[in-house]
Amino acid sequence: SQLEALMSSHIETFPDFPEPGVLFRDITPLLRDPEAFRAIIGHWGAVLPKEIDLVVGVEARGFVLGAPLALSLGAGFVPARKAGKLPGSPRSISYDLEYGSAEIEIGVDSLPRGTRIVVVDDLLATGGTAAATIELVREFDVELLGVSFLLELEGLGGRDRLPAGVPVTALSTVP
Ligand code: 5GP
Repeated sequence: SQLEALMSSHIETFPDFPEPGVLFRDITPLLRDPEAFRAIIGHWGAVLPKEIDLVVGVEARGFVLGAPLALSLGAGFVPARKAGKLPGSPRSISYDLEYGSAEIEIGVDSLPRGTRIVVVDDLLATGGTAAATIELVREFDVELLGVSFLLELEGLGGRDRLPAGVPVTALSTVP
């Protein structure tokens, strides 16, 4: 398909980055080709629910993709940021990484009651980041319509780490 061709020609794979054994998928070639970028956002928006109020994007590539996606859907954008970046008293959640831990935050007033949201990020790998983000947005009284990725690395089983009942979609997958 046109979509698969776009993805395979605009995502570059780097072995052993950022550490030995990791096969890193670099999406920046997609971002710097305006026609490919526009086409991908169009395809992605078409597979998401229509009634989204807010797109929640995970720092940092979830910002770059989530903001144009939100505009294309007529929705607003909310950043889920790494700890220490948001003013006020954001809600936060810590989660385990392979080595150490990480913490993400969302502004306490950023997700009003009853808002219909989707969480987006560039890539689903082990699922740790998305699982934590889902747990965090659930602290708000919102309607989580789903979580969606540009690319899902199926072999890492990330989907199975996400809570049942939350629709998970990916624009494309690699085994
Ligand atoms: P997970 O928590 O699912 O293991 O990893 C997903 C998170 O790490 C996402 O926020 C994603 O941006 C980043 N990530 C992990 N592996 C890759 C990769 O190969 N390419 C890119 N672009 N991001 C990755």
